Amino acid sequence: MSVPERIRQGIASGSLVRKMFDEGIVYKKKYGEENVFDLSLGNPIAEPPVDFKKELLNIAQDTTSGLHRYMENAGYVMTRAAVAGQITKESGIKFTENEIVMTCGAAAAINVVMRTILNPGDEVILFAPYFAEYRHYIGHHSGVVKVIPTDEKFLPRLDLLETAINIKTRAVLMNSPNNPSGTVYPESLVSQLSELLKNKQRQFGTQIILISDEAYSRIMYDGLKYHPIWTHYTESIVCTSYSKDLSLPGERIGYIAMHPALTDGKELMDGFIFSNRTLGFVNAPALMQRIVGKLQGVSIDMKLYQQKRDFLYDNLAIMGYSLIKPQGAFYMFPRTLIEDDSAFVRELQQERVLTVPGKGFGSPGYFRICFSVSDRTLEGSLAGFRKLAEKYRK
Ligand code: PLP
Repeated sequence: MSVPERIRQGIASGSLVRKMFDEGIVYKKKYGEENVFDLSLGNPIAEPPVDFKKELLNIAQDTTSGLHRYMENAGYVMTRAAVAGQITKESGIKFTENEIVMTCGAAAAINVVMRTILNPGDEVILFAPYFAEYRHYIGHHSGVVKVIPTDEKFLPRLDLLETAINIKTRAVLMNSPNNPSGTVYPESLVSQLSELLKNKQRQFGTQIILISDEAYSRIMYDGLKYHPIWTHYTESIVCTSYSKDLSLPGERIGYIAMHPALTDGKELMDGFIFSNRTLGFVNAPALMQRIVGKLQGVSIDMKLYQQKRDFLYDNLAIMGYSLIKPQGAFYMFPRTLIEDDSAFVRELQQERVLTVPGKGFGSPGYFRICFSVSDRTLEGSLAGFRKLAEKYRK
């Protein structure tokens, strides 16, 4: 055996998203790119804002020496200060560079946080449907995943959360706007969730950290506004990135922000910096740090995604699919028309429409569609969706 069992299991349980993406490559070779409608992988289709390209060109021409050297593992002070300034502006709570660590995207940010806060066997609570990679991010660092179902609108059920928390609960990891459901948690719910966590901390005499994965916090529709979690709960950490709001997923740039009043914050921050270094990230990419530091508050035009959402939602609803209209991110999570979501996704695949079964996100009986694709792909997928809707119409 060349790899240990835990890695073998990780490979086998795999990511259904990646699996579908890989199968899509085979399908595209077989049927031709234009005849396969790949709605599997969440890859931002928007181009980065023009200001990004401008800054990139400016930096490429900068002749100052030392621009490409090692730096503090937390990242450049000027970038962290810029991020802190933006958070202060949005939340009204004073943040400084000492509460920020620049990371290689949100994925690295979550891994760094898990590495730092978990003792073996500590529990991390997720709300299903959840971003499938979380299981690995938690498992890599000896944490135990505890999954709680959501309600019919994909909102966390606080009654279930209340009974799930115990002395071993180290963190709750939430994600709003949510991948895969597109649901945005209302501020009142985050407030109630925070009150519940405060009570549970008192009951057990423990620290329960609320980790908010805000990878899609700028991708919201219908005029919805981003509400920072900071005013609700001091034991909170945000993990986020510029992958979606600046459309830079390949550049691997994001950050961890921790509440200035977080208990043992100094030690935790030292831990994040240590973990960022020794997990092998060392520091976030220098070039990208320089650029995003100058682009605080800038994001891509959301209209592009909103139009795609409206087009797909309207069409699927008319066909009879049961689905919630996404309020953010670029996914839809309809019910499958038969019980077995894998079988349903395979049937769609026969129609050359690639999606992902809900069980990969902890919610069987649903399937995920990513609508961050070209209009041609979206339009082309409708025939396959329609064919199955007609086949299974009751
Ligand atoms: N969190 C969620 C909910 C995501 O959907 C993704 C990527 O799709 C990530 C984190 C990882 O983001 P990044 O590319 O910034 O590491």
